[in-house]
Amino acid sequence: MTRLASVILPLPLPEAFDYAEPEDMGLEVGDQVIVPLGPQRLLGVVASLRDASGHNRPLKPVLERREAPPIPKTTLAFLSWAARYAVDAPGQPLAISLRGARAPKARPERVIAATGAAVERMTPARARVLAAAADQPMSPGALAEAAQVSSGVIRALIELGALETRLIEPPLDFDPPDTSRPGRPLNASQTAAAEALAELVGQGGFQVALLDGVTGSGKTEVYLDAAARVLARDPTAQVLVLLPEIALTQRAIDRFEARFEARPAEWHSACPQPARRRVWEAVAQNRCRIVVGARSALFLPYANLKLIVVDEEHDSSFKQEDGFIYQARDLAVARGKIEDALVILASATPSLETLWNAETGRYHWLKLAARHGASRLPKVELIDMRETPPEPGAWLSPPLVAAMVETLARGEQTLLFLNRRGYAPLVVCRKCGERMTAPDTDSWLVEHRYSGRLVCHLTGFSMPKPERCPHCGAADSLASIGPGVERVEEEVRALFPEARVAIFSSDTVFDAEGARAMVEAMAQGEIDVLVATQAAAKGHDFPLLTLVGVVDADLGLRGGDLRAAERTFQLLTQAGGRAGRRERPGRALLQTYAPEQPVMQALKAQDRDAFVAAEMAQREAAGLPPFGRLAALIATGRDAHVLETYVRALAASAPNAKGVEVYGPADAPQALVRGRRRKRFLVRADRNVDLQAYLAAWRVRVKPPASVRLTIDVDPYSFL
Ligand code: ADP
Repeated sequence: MTRLASVILPLPLPEAFDYAEPEDMGLEVGDQVIVPLGPQRLLGVVASLRDASGHNRPLKPVLERREAPPIPKTTLAFLSWAARYAVDAPGQPLAISLRGARAPKARPERVIAATGAAVERMTPARARVLAAAADQPMSPGALAEAAQVSSGVIRALIELGALETRLIEPPLDFDPPDTSRPGRPLNASQTAAAEALAELVGQGGFQVALLDGVTGSGKTEVYLDAAARVLARDPTAQVLVLLPEIALTQRAIDRFEARFEARPAEWHSACPQPARRRVWEAVAQNRCRIVVGARSALFLPYANLKLIVVDEEHDSSFKQEDGFIYQARDLAVARGKIEDALVILASATPSLETLWNAETGRYHWLKLAARHGASRLPKVELIDMRETPPEPGAWLSPPLVAAMVETLARGEQTLLFLNRRGYAPLVVCRKCGERMTAPDTDSWLVEHRYSGRLVCHLTGFSMPKPERCPHCGAADSLASIGPGVERVEEEVRALFPEARVAIFSSDTVFDAEGARAMVEAMAQGEIDVLVATQAAAKGHDFPLLTLVGVVDADLGLRGGDLRAAERTFQLLTQAGGRAGRRERPGRALLQTYAPEQPVMQALKAQDRDAFVAAEMAQREAAGLPPFGRLAALIATGRDAHVLETYVRALAASAPNAKGVEVYGPADAPQALVRGRRRKRFLVRADRNVDLQAYLAAWRVRVKPPASVRLTIDVDPYSFL
């Protein structure tokens, strides 16, 4: 009897498509298949199979079953949950999940090996080559390097039959972790947390624990201990560690490798394609037990996922804002539930959502009391920029400069934190007042001096800095307003010509290797002053760093969105927490024009509880997350009239529901991006409302014209 296969394609299509299963194909749920769609042959995944009897419409057949690991059922369940949660098509999370499955395989590597055949005319160079090749087959380049010869010597030995070329298949497996190795002895506070986690591991099943401890309290050691127990308890169990930045994944990989004498699999956007394929298949076939990665690692096809760690769980980088919109921390908890796994959320400044879940008893709350060993939390001081302003045209105030002088004199390091890439955030014509903006986007162009270009940070558009004002034509009239990291670096170099200064931002560090090198240089004391965006502010452990200067502590507060105060508190606590992580005491100096602001006062007093209590009270009064739910609807289109007509129709058709309020449509703050106009709705709902069902019902009431795109962002972080 033939069957019907319901196949999800990794595309933004509203539902799965049915295909006929050819006789003897023997499909199973989760299989990767090739199916026809119009003239195309596409990769899809079998979501379900059912009996075809009673079905009389002729269906196209599945063309082929791909020789590749199937997607486990729990992964399919997770993907479908994620799509429903995001009010998006099931193919969207599937597309993320299949990235590794579709990547090309690594090609066999060509190496040179010794054959053992005798060589008549032996020379010292030839002898060196043969000795090196006998040791271990290696690539022609590596062999030439090892034996210090030219490639000609190697070629000649191949012709003489003393060397031969072999093709080696790249390794597929990952080394199994050695869980018998003891970890570091834990301190009393770590032991208590580790024991609580050990109990949860012993119980098995879905649980969420918040590991709450100041920066440097040794949270990583505690979750390494939990990972060891999970891996030891079940020889097929897998562990996933999610981190918000590629730079942090490198450090975590090193620590896992040191602990388990096996390098974990690495997964993030900078991983080469063949490496992705290897990880994807190894994860699906349980040949890889530890994955360390960025948010998309959550979508891999784990065969038996038993522990998910979300480190720096508060970090807004876990929110993916393009394409399939999701919050990886929230999805990690959902996946944990589906996989029956333990989820550990770790942070020094947990998100209000997570704290609320801990306070109300949904999550286990494990607290680490103090910093490990002799290190103390840094002293936080506010610099009132109204009282001690910098010199005109400068950005570092006299008290901060004085602290830098002392720090340099002691041979210690300074981190200057400014969350702004480039040289100056704004370029203005002194003659006519024109502000330089991107041609098709409502955003100011940022000057980058190293590249000599003006860059739109939203779209990536860039152009050379013009010599004349494009508006009034005045020559040499364009002035750079405000500081970015490049400008602060310039100031530091002028103040301290002898100091070794570096910039850590996504413009200077592009990939995992670069991040690793920069972190290493800083850890080794090869840098005196590091000027950094948030890329370096989080999670790192620099022993010689004792001074953190926050150039513009008010920066994050200006946007004025829901999480502005929370984010500022978290980011500045994190940045400040980089200082004094060993025996040497640390200081954090925050330059602010509003020292009386509650966030600044809470930072100064290092009183997280007071800050959280005040912020929670405000959110509760307004019914905002975590006390209520929010979603944004963003409609974009090139034609203002068509867009307006659509959003009006959408507004008129919003379903009435108790406990739901719809605001808008309004022009988005970023009203024009890449030539598309943007309109927003904001939906607020009480906690007990099924917001996803509401949104799904609403969106189908008005079909957008072909030129208009509607995006739904559940629990928005950006209000632009
Ligand atoms: P967190 O993750 O909380 O920021 P880490 O786990 O990175 O903290 O620990 C901070 C520093 O203290 C690291 O250098 C780490 O190696 C060290 N450390 C933490 N716990 C221990 C321990 N039990 N024994 C020795 N060193 C430790």
